[in-house]
Formats: sequence, structure tokens, C-alpha cells
Amino acid sequence: MNIIKNTIGYIVLLLFSISLQAEDDYWQQWVHYGMEVSLDTSAHSLSGTTNITYVNNSPDMLDRIYMHLYPNAFQVGSVKYREYQRGHYDGGISEDNPSYIRIDRFVIQDKNIAVSVDVKIDDTILEAELPSPLTPGDTLTFELDWVHQIREHNDRAGYEDDQYDFAQWYPKMVVYDKNGWQNIPFHAIGEFYGEFGTYDVTIDVPGAYIVGATGVVTSGDPGWSMAAVDTSIELDEWLESREENATESEARRSVTFHAEQVHDFAWITSPDFLYESGEWNGIDIHVLYDSEKGRDWTKEVVKRGERVLEWLSTQFGAYPYPQVTITHAMLGGGMEYPMLVMNGSSSEGLIAHEIGHIWFYGILGNNEHEEAWLDEGFTTFQTGWYMMNQYPPDGRGGSGNDFFGKLMRLQKLFTSNSSVESAQWDVASFVTRGYNTPIAGSSRKSPGYSVYSQNAYSKPAMMLYNLRGYLGEERFLSAMQYYYDQWKLKHPDEEQFRTAMEEATGEDLDWFFDPWLHEAGYTDYALTGWKSKRLSGGEFEVTASIRNKGTMAYPLDLEVELANGESYRPERWTNYINTWKDDYTFTVPGKPKRITLDPDDWILDVDRRDNSSGFTPHRFTLQMNPTPGSPRDAYLIAAFPWLTGYHQLDGWKPGLNLGRSYGFWTSQKLSMSYGVKSRAIFWHLRSSHDMRRILPGLKLKWQLSELEGVRGAGIQADYSWSEWYGHPPRYSFSGGYKITEADNSGYTDLYEAGKVSLLFGRFEASARVGDFGGSFSIDLASSGGSVSDWDFSRLIVETKLRRMWEKFGVAMRFLAGGTSYGENGIPGQEKFTVQSAGAGDYFQWSHLRHRDILNGFRDNFHIYGDTNLRGYYAHGFEGAESIVSGTLEASYQLLSFLKFRTFFDSGWLWSESDEFEGDLLMDAGIGFSFGPNFTFNGSQMGFRIDFPFWVNEPMEGEESIDLSRWVIGFQRGL
Ligand SMILES: [Zn+2]
Repeated sequence: MNIIKNTIGYIVLLLFSISLQAEDDYWQQWVHYGMEVSLDTSAHSLSGTTNITYVNNSPDMLDRIYMHLYPNAFQVGSVKYREYQRGHYDGGISEDNPSYIRIDRFVIQDKNIAVSVDVKIDDTILEAELPSPLTPGDTLTFELDWVHQIREHNDRAGYEDDQYDFAQWYPKMVVYDKNGWQNIPFHAIGEFYGEFGTYDVTIDVPGAYIVGATGVVTSGDPGWSMAAVDTSIELDEWLESREENATESEARRSVTFHAEQVHDFAWITSPDFLYESGEWNGIDIHVLYDSEKGRDWTKEVVKRGERVLEWLSTQFGAYPYPQVTITHAMLGGGMEYPMLVMNGSSSEGLIAHEIGHIWFYGILGNNEHEEAWLDEGFTTFQTGWYMMNQYPPDGRGGSGNDFFGKLMRLQKLFTSNSSVESAQWDVASFVTRGYNTPIAGSSRKSPGYSVYSQNAYSKPAMMLYNLRGYLGEERFLSAMQYYYDQWKLKHPDEEQFRTAMEEATGEDLDWFFDPWLHEAGYTDYALTGWKSKRLSGGEFEVTASIRNKGTMAYPLDLEVELANGESYRPERWTNYINTWKDDYTFTVPGKPKRITLDPDDWILDVDRRDNSSGFTPHRFTLQMNPTPGSPRDAYLIAAFPWLTGYHQLDGWKPGLNLGRSYGFWTSQKLSMSYGVKSRAIFWHLRSSHDMRRILPGLKLKWQLSELEGVRGAGIQADYSWSEWYGHPPRYSFSGGYKITEADNSGYTDLYEAGKVSLLFGRFEASARVGDFGGSFSIDLASSGGSVSDWDFSRLIVETKLRRMWEKFGVAMRFLAGGTSYGENGIPGQEKFTVQSAGAGDYFQWSHLRHRDILNGFRDNFHIYGDTNLRGYYAHGFEGAESIVSGTLEASYQLLSFLKFRTFFDSGWLWSESDEFEGDLLMDAGIGFSFGPNFTFNGSQMGFRIDFPFWVNEPMEGEESIDLSRWVIGFQRGL
């Protein structure tokens, strides 16, 4: 009897566990939204009535339901706001930009009786207890009235001018799945998860407003015909003719959209929208863009949409919806919704990314809170692939008709790596920098936005490149299509994706997915040597020595270049499990010349210089701004010819800058110029080596120079770290030793002749909290014994503080510095300069090495530093040994490229000579700074002109107030 009982028990248990694993057991809830909403543009509010039909397909009894009220997140004190306060990201939530959803009525139909329910609202989550529980298979209907107070555009939605972007805008059902209610509030980091169903939404807006939305129009007019651009003529021509024919529009517009098998609904409206349309394979493409801001959208965006739809449908699976709407939204990047994307620009890469999301997020509706990589990673991968396919060989293009877009395309002539190679470097750097965490995990628990972005976007995209490389394109795509077919219009997760890939390929892929998704490693293989032996019949036996220097292990492809110029690939090396050193022997059909591991670059090897036998090749390009990126398999040499520093002995000198780099690992910079009359070559060589293999954050640098009147040598170590990857607070420490020797050749007046050796150290900390930023630094330097002609030690403490309000900014700088010295005193170049930074900073600029350049123009060139009393330029001061200095600046953004500024500088100075005896000098004035920023010698530069019209201690013959004083600079402000 007992035995039988047990046996039945086992059978029941067995059946139960089998059914748990079966896909047939998958269920998802279903919901129908009937919504009527009306937009009040004067109050910036949207009032709505929602009717919901909710079918409980789960095996569970539900005693309550939850809804998302996303707009509530944009209030001071919300979960999102509090997370922004951690300081790694500024969300711009403020009290004077109200955003919320108010629930006015919530009525549940209980056994045909309407029951009014008190709902509980906590942050962005509404909870309603059901009058009686909802049993499996049963249907719940309820109705609510609500008002959405619309914010000025922030994050993904809101209004700006006359345009309204409606995203995450209505009370939305929380998903109930096998893990229960996903009632997760709207976090600072993390996206969405929605229940599949049907939407019928009637939108009522002022008559002039044109509407685009998820779904198809079932009644009313969205206004497209009156905004439809005649694309057979130029846009400006059409706009003119439209103005002539402009007609009065109706008082209100009411239009109904119907969408099936979607898990969200978004819409957008503006009276300034223009409309264009296209079609691919029976799928309508609607494009809505702003008539002023979106001039580069015309004609191009429809074509880009068609190309993208075709690509996605053929690669991954058919598009299941009747239309896609591409809209010109107010957010910076882009955002995806079912059948509708909101894009901040017309860029083809952005269109490919956001429409790609309709597949990976929209159709394969994963839980973005918990597994963001399943949509962002797949989309990033797919976009990179599409762009490489569309714009070979580098994947850069399709970025609009704007000036910078054109510049980018011009630069394509000079770029040295592809967009995919840039992405590979970015991830290779992250995984070796000491902040790596596994891809799998909740977005909201990410340590900062940059780590989230790596784990949601960049790393999983690399994982898929790797998987495509391992499986080969054909097997990879058919497995992806299998996954798509099995899980389209459902909620897949990691396990379901992995199972689908394994079923489709018939291979166990745990060895591949586990390290990529659940470990935080990196890949670094090296070819440490090879030998070959001639066999009979012209064949050679090759033995390649392979070493795994990384923490992840993968099978490897090899490529052998033969002496006859052909290349040959032996069988894949598969002895990778727990193998750190291996000799791999194979036969090739000719005399081998060069061997390369991972020739297609799909394992994301963090350093490919040791993947090949022989020397790493060099590739040449022209230096552009921004710096062209390194290829993965070669050093990059970027050349920049220019005319450099003028001096009275040689005039202007022809020069050449050469930069050599390999990714983040190493870089060298050689600046050379030639004095035509003096027949002298001046040069400066700097080298930097990333030592992250020993200690992430450590760099070793050295430099040698033979410049105009000054030669130098130096070595230093820099170590930097931050609490979050890519975000402040940041800390850095540098220390080193340098020698400079100046002569009396007359090339420069910045240095006193003689030798100075300095042992130096610097600590710096910088932080940012909301709109508030600051830094603190200590510098110590001491001349070293007999090498130096002077004997002195110096200490500098500096603090900078900065606060921004919208267009208004305040910045402060305090500096205290003191020097102790022996009988020779201090050389002029090591004293504290009165009006600006010191001699060394000026000497960096080859055009500023002598005062005679451009008739003493250098006096009016201001670089922030030292006592910074900019009104005291051209006073011929020798400088001070000790100072206390304070600078205060306020700025106001007049135009996007123009800032008005006002400043006050003050400083106490002491010197050994009787030049200063604790004198207090002050100046004040106004100035303007101009953008956009540009990068020079690695620093962000702009242009600034300051008028320090007041000084408290005028020179003899000078007035205290003088409107003709001016200085200029390339730093745009403190
Ligand atoms: Zn995305």
C-alpha cells in the first residue's frame, strides 16, 4: 500500500516538473484598453477615461491589480528623483515643472455591479484591491477617469512650444507573469514592461494639431493630408505654396487609433508637423517631422524607414503590424514604441536602432527592468550590422544633411576604423578597467549609467557578434529566426532565448552564454610562437603555441598566410576548456609565412597585437577633430602638418605632428618643427602606456624634448579611479620627476637660463552633485639637489566650485601657494605669475614661446592659473613666491553659442624682491565666450574675450577704470 502511494506521488511529481518545463505551459495575460483622451493645450493637461478588460490567463487567483502611473516619477521626492540624487546622473526634475496622473474615479464591475474602489498610489504604482478575487480564466472590467498634468519636456515625454510627445503617459496595467506582479516603480535607470493586448484610443486635440500614434486610424482624421509634403518639389517651394493656400482648420480634431498585439501605446502631436509617407511590402510608413527643425527629414527618412523594415524583416522575421510611424520627437536620442518611434534626429543609425526595437522589445516583449540586454543588446548588435551593411566599409553614414553630418562624411575619408571597431574598443576598455559586472542583472541595480549602458547595450552586442562568428552567419540567423518564431508577441527571457538557440543549433551553448552573461571576464589570447616542418607533397606541418592571458575561454579560428600569398584556415582550435597554454598542430598546403588567431575579430580580444606572428602593422591617416579611432589589428599613425611657433630668429616654422596609438593601450606623440634660417629641428616626444594589466587606472608616461631654448625630460605615473565607472566623484594621483634646461639662445623669454629638476606629486578629487560641481587639488614639488641650479620647494592648494541654473552659472576658484627657497631664489618660470597661468603653460603653445610674436600679442592671451589677475597683463611683473588668490565668475547663456560673463579677480602676493609685500590686487570686468567647443591637444577649447576694465592698483600713467583693456583665451570660462 505504502509503495503504491509513493509511486503515485513520484509520478505526480514527475508530471508536474515536466509540465513546468514545457513551453505549452507558457501563459500571458491579455488586456484591452478603450481610452478617450482630450488635450487642453492652455493648461497642458490631458483628461482621459479608460475602460479596461483584463483576462486572467494565469493559473493564479488575483485579489488585487496594479497600474503604472509613470508621469508621477517627475516630481521632487520620487524614487527616480532620489536615485538621481546619488549624483551619477542629473535628471532635471524640478518643483516648477509639475507632472502627475490624478485618478478621479475608479470603478470595478463586480458581478455586474459597479463598485467604486479606493486606490492606493505609491510613487508611480497604483494598487487596487478587487471586491472579489479574479479566478484563473476570468475577465475583469473596470473604468477610470484621470487627468495627466503634462510636464515641459523631460526624459522621454512632455511639451515644448506647440509639440506634445506622449510616452508613458496613461494608467497602464502592470505585467503579471510567472514571477508575479512586476510592480516596479519608474527608476532612474530602467525601462518598461507591458502586457500584450488591444488598444482603441480616441484622441481629441485642437483642430490645427496633427497626430501620429501606435495603431491604424479607424475613424476621424489625423490631419496628415493637410500636412502632406509634395516630395516631387523642393521642401521650401512646397512650404511657400502651402502658405498661400492655407485654410482655416476645424475647431477640434478627434481621431481613433486601433492597435492589436501590442504592449504599449504612444502618440505625438503638433500643429507644425509635416507628413510624408511610403510603403514596404504592404506595410505603411508614416513620417511626421517639424517644419522648422526637421528640414533634413524630407524624402530621406521615408527611404531610410523602408530600407530598415526590409532588412529587419528578412534578417529576423516578418513585421506583424500594418504600419510604422517615424516621428520627430524632442528627446535627445530616440525611443521605441510599438509601431511608432520617437527620434531626435533623422540619422539612419537611429532609425535602424529604434525600429529594430519594434522587433526586440515590441514583438519579443522581454522584461526590460530585469533583462535590458535582451532588447538593447540585440538592437545595438542589429544596428551595427545594418550600418556596416548599408555603409561599407566603416558603417558611418546616413546622418542627415546638417553641417556636422557632412563633416562626418568628409571625415570618412580619413577615419581609420569602423563603427564596429570603435564599439569593440569601448567594451574592451570597460572589461579591463576594473568596473566590469555581469550582463545579467536588474538595470536599477547598476552602479551608474555607464555600467548599465555597457551591460545593456555594448557588451551583449559584442556577445552576439561573438555568437555569429562562432556559429557562422547562416546558422546564427536561422537560430535567431527560430527564437523569433517561438517567442514573437510573447515575453521571452534569458532561459527561453538560450533554449531556443540550443534547440535551433542542436548544440549545448552553456559554455558560451554562462561566461558572457553571468561572469565579468575578458578575452585575451596570444600567439606565443610557431614552427613548421615540410611534409611530402609541398604540405607543411605547423605547430602554433597559443596562450590564454584572459579570463574567458573560447574556441579559436586561425588564419595562415602562405608564402605564395594565399591564405588558409585550418580546423578551428577547440582545446580551450581549462587550457592556458597549448600547442596546436595542423597541416597547411604551402609554406607558411604569418599566423593570426581570431582573424575575423569576433571573440573581443582586448589586445590583438599579440594575435599574429611578426610585427603589428601600422596604418596612416590624417589627424582630424575628433581624433580618428584605432583599428583593431594595427597601430594608427595620424599626421597633422602645420605652421608652428613664430620667433624672430626663424619666423614661422613648418612643422608636423605625428600621433601613434593602439586603442587605449599605448600612445606616442611626436611634434616636430624646423627653423628654416637656424636650420634647427625642434621636437617633443611624449609617450603614455596603460598599465591596467598590473593595476587598472595606472598609466606610465615619459617625455623628451628639444624645444626653442629649452630641453627637457620627465617620467611620471598617473593613477585615477572613480566611485562609479564614467561618473564623478573622481580621484587621481600623479607623481614623477622632470628636468628642464633653458639656454640663452633667445628663442624664448619664458625661461631663465639654467637647470631645474623637480620631484612632484599631485592629488585631485572632483565631484558633482546635481547642478553643483567642484574639485580640490594639492600640488607638491621640490627641486632635487645638485642637478638643479636652484633649490626650492612649493605647495599649492586649489579648490574650484561651480553651480549651474538653467542659463545662469557661477564659478569660483581659490588658490593658496607658497614656496620656500635657498640662496639662489627661484627661477622666473617657477614663480607664481600675477595675471595668468605660469611660464610652463604658455610654453606648451608653440605660438606663445616668445613675447615678440605678433607684436606682443601674448600679453593679451590669457590662460587661467596662478594668481589669475587678468587685468594686470603687460605690467612686466617678475612674479611672486607666495600667493592667495580668488576668482569669481558669473555667466549667462545669451544664445546657444554665446555667453555673457562677468568676473572679479583678487589676490595677495608676496615676493622676495620688494615687488610685492602682501599687496592686495583686484580687477573686475565683463566678457563674452563663444562656442562650439573644439579639442586641441586633448583639451576642450572655445573662444573668450574679457574686458577687465577695473583694476585697484593702476600702473603709473594708467587709470583705475579703462575700457580699452582686453584679454582673449581659448578656455571659455573657469
Ligand atoms: Zn535602444
